[in-house]
Amino acid sequence: MAEPSRKGELLPEDVGSDDCLTSYTHIYSPDLLKDQVAFITGGGSGIGLRIAEILMRHGCDAVIASRNLDKLKEAAKKLSAATGRRCLPVCIDVRQPESITAAVDETLKELGRIDILVNNAAGNFLCPATSLSFNAFKTVMEIDTMGTFNTSKVVYEKWFQNHGGNIVNISATLGYKGQALQVHAGSAKAANDAMTKHLAVEWGPSGVRVNTVAPGPISGTEGFRRLGGPRGEAAGAFQSIPLQRAGNKTEMAHCVLFLASRASSYVTGAILVADGGAWLTSPNDVSMLLGYWSAEKKRDK
Ligand code: NAP
Repeated sequence: MAEPSRKGELLPEDVGSDDCLTSYTHIYSPDLLKDQVAFITGGGSGIGLRIAEILMRHGCDAVIASRNLDKLKEAAKKLSAATGRRCLPVCIDVRQPESITAAVDETLKELGRIDILVNNAAGNFLCPATSLSFNAFKTVMEIDTMGTFNTSKVVYEKWFQNHGGNIVNISATLGYKGQALQVHAGSAKAANDAMTKHLAVEWGPSGVRVNTVAPGPISGTEGFRRLGGPRGEAAGAFQSIPLQRAGNKTEMAHCVLFLASRASSYVTGAILVADGGAWLTSPNDVSMLLGYWSAEKKRDK
């Protein structure tokens, strides 16, 4: 059953690990995505895995695509067991268009269609601009921004152009205020937010909607752990967020479900910020964050 938070809101179920939910309460019709196919980059872990699970729980089959095939195979087994739908694990590096082309060909051969593309793959870490190598900045741009373009273009040209479809990008709010120690990811996601609008304009006439979900701090994810979420939560840092808590992965998956389904049939080029209001009020104090970053570096050594 969905559980009430300490404020009495009814939150959707989640588990903190990369496992499927032990119970799930549908909000939308379980048939909402009946017999559709979703292609999810980075679908073997974190938010991407939960997106795959929630979409599958609404009747679709899924392809989960990233670099680590062993991890994907294990995730695919769990996803199929929890939902009774097919899940195809495929190995891609979103920086390499030919690997995406091969994966999309395999998807069309095995599952016959693609209705939904979720661009979720990304890399992130905290680092001040002066300590960030040229290569590190480039790598984040290549995975987050070029990866989103590469995957969208391959799926569009191979299927969406003639059949329509839905693209949902996973962004972040980092660029809104210029979040300290995040010039790489903030710049990459800002470019993606522009791309959402450009592609919505160009591909709308082909029946393709392009939208974005911008999560805030989401518990039970690698991003949350790496960016200091658990310690911040314990120290009461989330009290400054209007909703006074981190989000959970199922809440993000519900936003994707809305944008990927006919529930949002007249929505395109939109950016749905799902952060409990965090970016409006969260601190952006460079010296405080630099102190945190230096302490983490010492701990790593
Ligand atoms: P995560 O578990 O680390 O997910 C990232 C995924 O991307 C991994 O499954 C990884 O799989 C895949 N990936 C990385 N590089 C790749 C590449 N070159 N080609 C293909 N796949 C690649 O992190 P997460 O925290 O769930 O984040 C998911 C999304 O939410 C990201 O777009 C992130 O920016 C966004 N977001 C997260 C938070 C948060 O609090 N967690 C907040 C705001 C936004 P492999 O290692 O197998 O390639």
